[in-house]
Amino acid sequence: MRVRTGFGYDSHRLVEGRPFMLGGIAIPHDKGGLGHSDADVLLHAICDALLGAVALGDIGLHFPDTDAAWKDADSRKLLAHVVKLLREKGWTVGNMDCTVVLEKPKLRPHVDAMRAAIAELLGTDQDAVSVKASTNEKMGFVGREEGVCAYAIVLVEKH
Ligand code: MG
Repeated sequence: MRVRTGFGYDSHRLVEGRPFMLGGIAIPHDKGGLGHSDADVLLHAICDALLGAVALGDIGLHFPDTDAAWKDADSRKLLAHVVKLLREKGWTVGNMDCTVVLEKPKLRPHVDAMRAAIAELLGTDQDAVSVKASTNEKMGFVGREEGVCAYAIVLVEKH
């Protein structure tokens, strides 16, 4: 069996009047991510981790923000496409670990729903998907609640 790892990072501004999509679900909040797509920062970091593991570029290469096809796109569709690209090359996801960094709201009540949504998209067990949350101790753009960022690391396998 061959294994490879990949790492992904993304950030988005948080603004009023947008739904807050995170990990494939809508999180109740008075702000949401600003972006060309639905601005799901966690799914975008996961896409980049997967693309990185198989050296297929990054999310901007596959889904350019100049392309009207991806305007307000459901990021679950982006991730499903990335998973398909990996499968075509014979790779499956072993496990994934993610951290979302934001001040508000508390993510704990939503973590299992995000893990379930991500596991379904990846075609893995929920046990193989970890979602963690951290604040930024009120420092920087995250601390000022101007934005949210996410990190993801993945292990992929080829049998
Ligand atoms: Mg993004």
